[in-house]
Amino acid sequence: MTDTVARSARRDFLPFNPPLVGEEEIREVVDTLRSPWITTGPKTRRFEEEFSEFVHAPGALALNSCTAAMHTALACLGIGPGDEVITTPMTFTATANVVEHVGARPVLVDIEPDTLNIDPQRVAAAITPRTKALLPVHYAGHPAERDVLEALARTHNLALIEDAAHALPASFRGRQIGSGPNPVAFSFYATKNLTTAEGGMLTADPEFLEQARIMALHGMSRDAWKRYDQGGSWRYEVVAPGFKYNLTDVASAIGLWQLRKQERFHRRRVEIVEAYTLAFGADEALETPVRRPHVDHAWHLYVLRIRPELLRIGRDQFIDELTRRNIGTSVHFIPIHLHPYYRKKYGYVPADFPVAVSNFERLLSLPLHPGLTDQDVADVIEAVLDVVQIYRR
Ligand SMILES: *Cc1c(COP(=O)(O)O)cnc(C)c1O
Repeated sequence: MTDTVARSARRDFLPFNPPLVGEEEIREVVDTLRSPWITTGPKTRRFEEEFSEFVHAPGALALNSCTAAMHTALACLGIGPGDEVITTPMTFTATANVVEHVGARPVLVDIEPDTLNIDPQRVAAAITPRTKALLPVHYAGHPAERDVLEALARTHNLALIEDAAHALPASFRGRQIGSGPNPVAFSFYATKNLTTAEGGMLTADPEFLEQARIMALHGMSRDAWKRYDQGGSWRYEVVAPGFKYNLTDVASAIGLWQLRKQERFHRRRVEIVEAYTLAFGADEALETPVRRPHVDHAWHLYVLRIRPELLRIGRDQFIDELTRRNIGTSVHFIPIHLHPYYRKKYGYVPADFPVAVSNFERLLSLPLHPGLTDQDVADVIEAVLDVVQIYRR
């Protein structure tokens, strides 16, 4: 380490986003393991009910990932070969992959420069007779313009599936993400606002979920399960070649307590965001994340954008400098069309989605999780401002 770094570096590495799992989760997992039922059962049912209540959903189906939830939703909607699904390049690859899984084509459209969410006007322009669904992502926890998207979906008779991996808890014009009748997929991956190590939830109207529940468990008919529940009959019927996507009670045991802590977690996230934005907002070399007035932001990520024209270093070196100061960061996301699979299959070039690419090149995610102490937050702020100071043009 050089002298300039040593001056402002914290002693131990601050991980980007470790899970915050407490004794309650641990006790509930142990209780589950000591019970006669460890896979999908009573705790998963309770988790679904409490989650539904929390986001005011008409119903919820616990699955083993957000990817599984989106795949199941697409399959239940009958989307397949020859169909197009419009989504954003500024997302994790799972969002596009699930469209490939059902044999349809993910059609990417560019994003809005402020929220980095899918641009509804470009969505409107991309709709063709083959379009079957819109698949927006609530990037970083800031809801996409879902009312415009919903109106487009209604006009063109399309499904609206929301990738809400980041959006717990979030709301758009006072309505919580996940409270509508359309399919909405949440993630409980290790880094997400609520974690079950791996896990996910699909919210939708109860009729859709009944079909999804079958599809997510081998396509075995619900009638068979009812018989099984009541009388222990071994008989079942397969009505579709379904998936194996159910969430275990061991995972749901973690989820139950993570859910009960969400309000506290969220309050702490907001405090940290306010501290970061207060510290960085006045520096013209830095661009802080926006929140449109009509949304409640889940603040899954704090995405800071640098203005490379005002600095002597780019984003990659900015990250290296923070790492040297023991601050863990990440990048969300490498735009979908830059990945070899999508580039080769659809012949994309970077300039196809200039807003996504130009922002990708200058953004990084800072540590943002409820386990951060005030000292951690101060360390992040000091390190970021130190790097800016040293490399300012
Ligand atoms: C994490 C993430 C997913 C995938 O979630 P899993 O639960 O790991 O399947 C999907 N979309 C986005 C935007 C994500 O960040």
